Amino acid sequence: MIPDTLLHPIEYTKGVGTARAEVLRSELGIHCGLDLLQFFPNRYVDKSRFYKINELIASGMEVQIIGRIVHLKTIGQKRGSRLVATFVDETGQMELVWFRSQKWFSEHLKINEPYVVFGRVNLFNGIFSLPHPEMELLKDFEVSFKPGMQAVYRSSEKLTNRGITNRFISGLIAQFFKNTAAHFEESLSGNILRTYRMISKTEALFAIHFPENPEQLAKAQFRLKFEELFFIQLQLIAKNLYRKNKIKGFRFEKIGTYFNLFYHNHLPFELTNAQKKVLKEIRNDLGQNAQMNRLLQGDVGSGKTIVALMAMLIAIDNDFQACLMAPTEILANQHFQSVSNQLKDMGLNVRSLTGSTKKTERKLLLEKLESGEIHILIGTHALLEDPVQFNNLGLCVIDEQHRFGVAQRSKMWYKNEYPPHILVMTATPIPRTLAMSLYGDLDLSVIDELPPGRKPIKTIHLYESKRLKLIRFMKDEIQKGRQIYIVYPLIQESEVMDLKNLDEGYLALLRDFPTPNYQVSVVHGKMKAEDKNREMERFVSGAANIMVATTVIEVGVDVPNASVMVIESAERFGLSQLHQLRGRVGRGAEQSFCILMSGNKLSNEAKTRLETMVATSDGFEIAEVDLKLRGPGDLMGKQQSGILNLKLADLSKDQNILMMARQEAIEIFRNDPALSSKDNMPINKAYAHLNSEKGIWGYIS
Ligand code: ADP
Ligand code: MG
Repeated sequence: MIPDTLLHPIEYTKGVGTARAEVLRSELGIHCGLDLLQFFPNRYVDKSRFYKINELIASGMEVQIIGRIVHLKTIGQKRGSRLVATFVDETGQMELVWFRSQKWFSEHLKINEPYVVFGRVNLFNGIFSLPHPEMELLKDFEVSFKPGMQAVYRSSEKLTNRGITNRFISGLIAQFFKNTAAHFEESLSGNILRTYRMISKTEALFAIHFPENPEQLAKAQFRLKFEELFFIQLQLIAKNLYRKNKIKGFRFEKIGTYFNLFYHNHLPFELTNAQKKVLKEIRNDLGQNAQMNRLLQGDVGSGKTIVALMAMLIAIDNDFQACLMAPTEILANQHFQSVSNQLKDMGLNVRSLTGSTKKTERKLLLEKLESGEIHILIGTHALLEDPVQFNNLGLCVIDEQHRFGVAQRSKMWYKNEYPPHILVMTATPIPRTLAMSLYGDLDLSVIDELPPGRKPIKTIHLYESKRLKLIRFMKDEIQKGRQIYIVYPLIQESEVMDLKNLDEGYLALLRDFPTPNYQVSVVHGKMKAEDKNREMERFVSGAANIMVATTVIEVGVDVPNASVMVIESAERFGLSQLHQLRGRVGRGAEQSFCILMSGNKLSNEAKTRLETMVATSDGFEIAEVDLKLRGPGDLMGKQQSGILNLKLADLSKDQNILMMARQEAIEIFRNDPALSSKDNMPINKAYAHLNSEKGIWGYIS
């Protein structure tokens, strides 16, 4: 149980009062003592050890040293002047430096008396110095209480103005530990505590705020991070199991005529091993008596579509309908074209439905859908609209999942008496750990192999000053019969400016690539669907040499003859976007290129992004870098960051802990799904709190 005093409004705590309580609430979201105890430090200042001067290695070290001042002098004139003390211990000498209050220091500092000094050192010309160190005479230091490490909490001007400093927060927390006799009920099982040699909950909570030394802090952090991730995994796995046990799905027992016919007579290429493995996983799911919820991850070009197609054939073999939903009309059309093309001799009725399907055609189509005449329906969000009624939808494939919210995922359920099986495909390589946290309630399949015979794409970064070189290169490639994409950034906030850039780029391009020798098509988000389609078509058919576009082509289009991707203002794209765009080329037999154009001045982060792109084409490697650069919240966009609102664990750094936590959660469901054993009682109780508002884990959405 949580002691009552921890739940009282924070203003009733000694030393707080209404004004400070207000700021604690608004700035830090701290309403009660419990919130405060879970307000974890950002970092720590390590005062658990003393350094010798000859142990100093580099600038930036935060160190505590005992020594004596042997000499004091003022150097420089007026504004540039500083007070410099020569500070020694038995191993060497360094300098202490003051720029402000020089007079006061020169009068009060004691020569030849032992001091304890603390600060961040600088190394200059071979000499270490400490500017404005914290310092105390050794004899005073020895009689005052000092925790080994000092916690540093998040701060803001508003907070400091109210006197809410580190010292204040530490004081409050100490007070709570005293008042509650510092006892918190254990929330993990004895088994887990023993396996990982974890410290108790109470110890961990105390040590995270008042660690004695780095080892103890590490133990506290490990324990609390584990706990945080463990309970999230428990929830996700419970959801997954619930679905499997309670949500009945259609059992597709037959692998029948259509699947086999296609496999033996129409499959245009040999499947990769990864594709075979994933198909097996899907087949297995579909044969169960439970609804499938599977996430299929595979890098751009890894061949997800054919897997989806074959899964749909299994549905049809079992007398069900299937649908495939894509995030954009262009992509939906392309899927429609390639799927109907591949199935053309099989006597199946494949149709498409998008926002621009004409009214009369639409009406007819909906009738045939409801009567079951249509086997496969391919389209956009339009599939989710109410008049769209299937006769018996058995499988729904959703391409590029991150564009659809979870709400849409579940909306498909209400289209039918029973929920159809769901296969979600994404080309956004999500690091495995992140996928586990985000989609831990889905089963995960990964295509981690590209079809054979692809030549690696050559990626080149060019600064703006090299544009002539780019144009020459493009002309050479067109001469060889290749096609080229040119992509401009389009970011919501500056849409007007971006379109202007695209327009200007387009006009400049027409000057360099004039008709009739060259044909340039252009596609952007503001165009009417039919214009877009026409321009796309010109490029797909090969009539246009160059396609200028905003990121609408990001997802999906497949033009094997396009072998050059030029990305303008590449520094403005995120890594995963760059990777997606690059994936548009490299699909044919020719050598492909990705050219990243950028301005001459780049931020460090932008430089890292472009360097990463040049260095690797492995989507998962890129995703890991992206995760480190941006943090998990940004990576997935706002709507999905809720679950990533972790207090302590950091998915980009704590992947090992996540794996352990997930493993343990799986074990528990395997051995004691009701959490009823005596040993699992603490978990059971804490887990029950999860869904209750006052629960200690209530913040998990
Ligand atoms: P993505 O996973 O990005 O959706 P696609 O399904 O569009 O990839 O496949 C990319 C290209 O690779 C397509 O032209 C497709 O026909 C081709 N392809 C897919 N699987 C194979 C394979 N096993 N062997 C050869 N080519 C393949
Ligand atoms: Mg695709």
